[in-house]
Amino acid sequence: MATNRTFIMLKPDAVEKGYIGGILEKITASGFKIVTLKLIQMTKADAETFYEVHNERPFYEELVEYMTRGPIVAAILEKDNAVEDFRTLIGATNPAEAAEGTIRKQYAASISENAVHGSDSDDNAAIESAFHFSGREQF
Ligand code: UDP
Ligand code: MG
Repeated sequence: MATNRTFIMLKPDAVEKGYIGGILEKITASGFKIVTLKLIQMTKADAETFYEVHNERPFYEELVEYMTRGPIVAAILEKDNAVEDFRTLIGATNPAEAAEGTIRKQYAASISENAVHGSDSDDNAAIESAFHFSGREQF
């Protein structure tokens, strides 16, 4: 059953380039409500755990390095059909293949430095939300 929440991150490249405001504006203008949000820097262990599903992939080490090099914005968003609608809003993993009007089309530099994360299922949204936010931080 679809839930109405998803977990997202604005990745280090987006924070470094000053895109926080622009991306959050696009998110709220698209009908998502921010239910919690914070700026944090992931440790190597955090990133290795968060992306464990990719640990056999050739880009894994580079991904961990990238995701830990500076602060990220972590947030939980609410909207009907949140997981799927947010994946549509961000566009394809590779910005070269991302549709016009998507966040990655506008803000991502490459397939690796692609500005934003969105959970890919309701189960992962719950797991990823709990990874970054305690119960009392989830409003
Ligand atoms: N990634 C990468 N090279 C690739 C595929 C993915 O560096 O060929 C990175 C990229 O930052 C991506 C993350 O690994 O967002 C997770 O990959 P996934 O396939 O889950 O893409 P997403 O769900 O973020 O679209
Ligand atoms: Mg993914």
